Amino acid sequence: MTASPEADLLVPEVQLRPPDLRPWRDGGTGVDHLHLRDSGRPGPTVMLVALTHGNELCGALALDWLLRHDVRPLRGRLVLAFANVQAFDRFDPADPFASRYVDEDLNRVWDDAVLRGPRQSAELQRARSLRPFIDGADLLLDLHSMQEPGAPALTICGMSDKSVPLARALGQPATLLVDTGHAAGLRLIDRGGFADPASPRQAVLVECGAHWETASADLALDVSLRFLRHTGLVDADWATAHLRCPTPDRQRLVRVGEAVTARSNAFRFTQPVHHLMEIPKAGTLLAEDAGQRWTTPHDHCVLIMPMLRPGRAGQTMVRLGRYEDGPA
Ligand SMILES: [Zn+2]
Repeated sequence: MTASPEADLLVPEVQLRPPDLRPWRDGGTGVDHLHLRDSGRPGPTVMLVALTHGNELCGALALDWLLRHDVRPLRGRLVLAFANVQAFDRFDPADPFASRYVDEDLNRVWDDAVLRGPRQSAELQRARSLRPFIDGADLLLDLHSMQEPGAPALTICGMSDKSVPLARALGQPATLLVDTGHAAGLRLIDRGGFADPASPRQAVLVECGAHWETASADLALDVSLRFLRHTGLVDADWATAHLRCPTPDRQRLVRVGEAVTARSNAFRFTQPVHHLMEIPKAGTLLAEDAGQRWTTPHDHCVLIMPMLRPGRAGQTMVRLGRYEDGPA
């Protein structure tokens, strides 16, 4: 396999082994790697999504665990989807960043104008087959991980506060985020009713920790069980007995004011940065980008998931926010 150009840059240790998804290919739904279990009783349609990014193994391990434990809903319907399996199938621990997607980022294609448009890609084909299930979900959990080693988990609640109650009901992880989306395209959690304040549908994206760290897999399962417990689809005692991570004392909300999008391939941070780093003073130089200087827009500026690898023009490099309840 040919290594990607970035393969020699910052490749963390791959602690997780990719699960064998071959047993889960045929879920009887007509859509590969998508399982639907109907209790036959009234209740919400609850969907868990893993592998929106093909190299983020933690969610796939959580869904593999649920399927191996033959989890069936006590009420409503349960949908389990391994999203970008085509990319996942290319996962190579020696070049683990290369299998994030095949043609394009599956988490930027969820606008109807894109989904129903003429453009073709591996990810669009998959998104189009998943779409009816996504649009049928009342509550959705999208499981991801992050590139920074040791990065603490956070829940992205979307661009409004409507899914914050769901994130708080899970009680995990400690940091919640309301953000401004991505210039490059619509995320799954921002699609349709999930983003419509008038709709009761809710979706959250949990960044479970760092790619390929054991802790991310533990958190992915922990938060999945909390989600199933909250929705009443599984026995609460059973879910609680299998939780793996301590509950944080409190959850703090970071509200993102702006996303920093690279204007050129020359974008560079001017100081070492890390996820949830708090910069005390407004006007602190943060990055340079083809002659432009990015500075912190306000005091106590919190950096959300800075891109530690070389960026490209149009890519979100970092998001800037502040804690809702003031500085830590
Ligand atoms: Zn992801």
